[in-house]
Amino acid sequence: MTGRVRIVIVGGSFGGLATAYELRRHLGPERAEITLVAKDDQFRFVPSFPWVAMGRRSLEQISFSLAGPLANKHVAFAHETVTGVDTENKVVATSGTEHPYDFLVVATGHRSANEAVEGLGPFDGPGHSPMSAGETTELAKAIRALLTDPGPVVVGAAPGASCIGPVYELAFELDHLLRRRKLRHRVPMTVLTPEPFLGHMGMGGAGKIRQLLEGALEERDVVYRTSVAITKITAETVETEGASPTPSLLSIVIPPLAGVDAVAKSPGLANPKGFIPVDDHYRHQTADGVYAVGVAVALPPVGDTPVPVNFPKTGHMTEQMAGIAARDLAARVEGREGTTAELSARCVLDMGDRGAYMAVDPVRPPRDQIPTVSEGRRWLYAKQAFERAYLFSARRGQKMPTALGW
Ligand SMILES: Cc1cc2nc3c(=O)[nH]c(=O)nc-3n(C[C@H](O)[C@H](O)[C@H](O)COP(=O)(O)OP(=O)(O)OC[C@H]3O[C@@H](n4cnc5c(N)ncnc54)[C@H](O)[C@@H]3O)c2cc1C
Repeated sequence: MTGRVRIVIVGGSFGGLATAYELRRHLGPERAEITLVAKDDQFRFVPSFPWVAMGRRSLEQISFSLAGPLANKHVAFAHETVTGVDTENKVVATSGTEHPYDFLVVATGHRSANEAVEGLGPFDGPGHSPMSAGETTELAKAIRALLTDPGPVVVGAAPGASCIGPVYELAFELDHLLRRRKLRHRVPMTVLTPEPFLGHMGMGGAGKIRQLLEGALEERDVVYRTSVAITKITAETVETEGASPTPSLLSIVIPPLAGVDAVAKSPGLANPKGFIPVDDHYRHQTADGVYAVGVAVALPPVGDTPVPVNFPKTGHMTEQMAGIAARDLAARVEGREGTTAELSARCVLDMGDRGAYMAVDPVRPPRDQIPTVSEGRRWLYAKQAFERAYLFSARRGQKMPTALGW
């Protein structure tokens, strides 16, 4: 393409920010005018939401304002809410204005489909989930209340959930917190998961993670049930299909995810769940010039399970998608096609007093390599160091570390 291309990125989290930085490495301001549109003016390090819930971090400690770092990269920042995308005329509409584009990258993440479980709040029901800053703040309040008035706790995921890692992290972290306060004996804890076995995580499991999680929950006296369909949360129970209700004063349930309304309702952009169908380069399958990365992308589950569990889209995977999409987009501007790669996943699970490291390559089985699973206190330190390193780099517009620690 000749002339200066107009690139619009929607979303200012892992997917949007990584795409903006990577695009700028390939296309200077004379070659591309880049605008990032996001409804939140803050970047938040979402993997630390469980630490915010436990009172170990404030939201401020894991956030920074997007405007400065983007300006340093000569990326225009529009703090606006996108209301729709016209893929025929190549225009993004927001609450205030319109952004015409030659290329569009959608990185709008998810909408929590809380309607899947009656009572899943926290604003309109007793159930909690840490899927956004506001919900995490409410969960932090509920955990403080539990410390003064202990009672049974359920941590789980709803049928169709895809973000299962935080279920384990929240259970282990809460167990650890309660033990430190000498309150654990007053809090029966239950993990309820739609997974057919612990550690399936929507990717068919990973090496010995199942055995590790079973042992770790059992030694901590956390009861667990698999292939569970949570149907309803009340102030005192969690109801599931085919079993009697589990008593629970604090119920933390990860919902299934859907695409955000602006994407779901834009003609020709998304599938019925609101996720965007893409090819190997994260290009839209039909809409010209459109890419999608991160949680906004449609990725099929690994297979049938008795209770539905969806394919994970982690922060680490989101960054890989952003890299592939940005390099392909930059190559297309120069009249070439970019390279692509299968997604791998590395993540560290906080287990309270230690961490568990998991590496799968590729994410979708079968795999040539046996997944790495390792447990130890060093992984907890690695996760904390990674959070700091990521925020340090992202704030300065530098390439974020993607290897260890997620
Ligand atoms: C509790 C929790 C713990 C997690 N832990 C880990 C972990 O340990 N490791 C890991 O790898 N992953 C983890 N994840 C997953 C990780 O956070 C996600 O993969 C990542 O946030 C996805 O990034 P994204 O850019 O696709 O979307 P999001 O982070 O959801 O960001 C969406 C962006 O789009 C913007 N947006 C949305 N709608 C609009 C609109 N209409 N107009 C304008 N802007 C809009 C938002 O403002 C936001 O900037 C965790 C997730 C949760 C919820």
